[in-house]
Amino acid sequence: MSYRGRLAPSPTGYLHLGHARTFFIAQQRARAATGTLILRNEDLDRARCKPEFVSAMFEDLKWFGFEWQEGPDVGGPHAPYNQSERLAIYRKTFEQLRREGVIYPCVCSRKDIQQALQAPHASDDEPIYPGTCRNRSPEAGTRASWRFRVPDGEAISFTDTARGPQTFVAGKDFGDFVVWRHDDFPSYQLAVVADDNAMRITEVVRGADLLLSTARQLLLYRTLGLTPPAFHHCDLMTDESGARLAKRHDALSLRALRRRGADPAQLRVSLST
Ligand SMILES: [Zn+2]
Repeated sequence: MSYRGRLAPSPTGYLHLGHARTFFIAQQRARAATGTLILRNEDLDRARCKPEFVSAMFEDLKWFGFEWQEGPDVGGPHAPYNQSERLAIYRKTFEQLRREGVIYPCVCSRKDIQQALQAPHASDDEPIYPGTCRNRSPEAGTRASWRFRVPDGEAISFTDTARGPQTFVAGKDFGDFVVWRHDDFPSYQLAVVADDNAMRITEVVRGADLLLSTARQLLLYRTLGLTPPAFHHCDLMTDESGARLAKRHDALSLRALRRRGADPAQLRVSLST
């Protein structure tokens, strides 16, 4: 099976050097394997994704030196490559999870969940869902999200191609997670699994902030009877104060670097060391 990797940016802001580094590793791994690199536009968050960020994303990626063989601009055998155009695929996945009986409707607000927690959560991942709706059936017509019921206490293990063996315990490291949002859109977890499978991705290269998401997604792959790809989680880039780079670090956006006359060839060299 030939290598298929992907770049999956979300047009909710300008891409910064941290994204570029993760994408650059993804591109290098695809090239080293003489594989295919796919660009997928993760534009499901209608409130935060903006058309100007989509055009900036293409411009900035090309300026930096990224090249992809399939994507929204060049097409390919697994089109469309914009998540907002793939809703029918996600709905099919959702229906399959529902038939399997592994998901349930949840009517909790963010505030309900915060109040039900015993202790404030320390990690920067989402708080562990307290299970309030696990055994209650909401009244018909209530706007609910749908959560995956995790197998409490089960260790979810995988071997990361960058970091080696990883184990996370369901119900302890992460709780029941949303697969379908109350606004009738798929969650990140569901959309990514459906797409990586449909697009025949063989290795997912992404930031280490998504390690717990990988554990969640492995449960989805298993439930859906799908073979998961390999996972390669890169260290996150931090600023001088040790804080993780975010889209709000405008000075390190590819846009700002370009405006200041940065040379993409030099940036690529600095990222590969
Ligand atoms: Zn709930």
